[in-house]
Amino acid sequence: MWRASILTLYPEMFPGPLGVSLSGEALATGTWALDVSNIRDFGQGRHRSVDDTPAGGGPGMVIRADVLAQAIDALGDDGRPRLLMSPRGLPLQQAHVRALAAGDGAVIVCGRFEGVDQRVIEARGLTEVSIGDYVLSGGELGAMVLIDACVRLLPGVMGGATSGDEESFENGLLEYPHYTRPLTFEDRAIPDILRSGHHKNIAAWRRSEAEALTRERRPDLWAAYEARQPPPKKKRR
Ligand code: SAH
Repeated sequence: MWRASILTLYPEMFPGPLGVSLSGEALATGTWALDVSNIRDFGQGRHRSVDDTPAGGGPGMVIRADVLAQAIDALGDDGRPRLLMSPRGLPLQQAHVRALAAGDGAVIVCGRFEGVDQRVIEARGLTEVSIGDYVLSGGELGAMVLIDACVRLLPGVMGGATSGDEESFENGLLEYPHYTRPLTFEDRAIPDILRSGHHKNIAAWRRSEAEALTRERRPDLWAAYEARQPPPKKKRR
């Protein structure tokens, strides 16, 4: 069973939103499992201290290597990847999510304060994962983002929806626009082609909408997509 093991100073944040809807139902029915360790349980002294001032000076506090290492070691090593949520990490992408969802789960360390002592990252082989180029106050929301993205890909979780293949990022493109009832909304009609019943034409229209959207909004994705296409037959001007 796919298992997420969380190390956090705020265990009460879990399962939080992961306990609702798709991920919540999958959790309740045992499609995946969640365990949460409180790093504070491994803290030092009467106050269960987990952090200290940064060596070399500077603002804030840093989570101690020895305390975090003990918390990680208490989980044992079952071969699951050990991740550290961190703005310095590789920005999370759907391909990483797919790879992670295909495995046995992950051990996910949630940082707080200024972060964690570099030595525990190295000594426990933590892979740093970012959820984007902005700074959160802690790794917990990032861990939830990562887990949510993985869990929806687990077999059976999305149910009847064959969604997935055509979704944003799966083929290097953003997804085409969706429409549903009513037929007319504030004078806006559903595009005729979607009511034509011509599946081939509809697929072609969706592909061209997806391409246009990607070209307009995400030049980075578009460049990578174009580079993967076979060379055009017609000579380009
Ligand atoms: N001083 C650090 C930021 C610390 S933010 C720096 O400048 O890089 C506190 C914690 O929030 C981090 O340890 C990390 O676990 C989490 N966090 C913040 N931003 C994140 C992001 N973009 N992705 C993943 N985790 C993040």
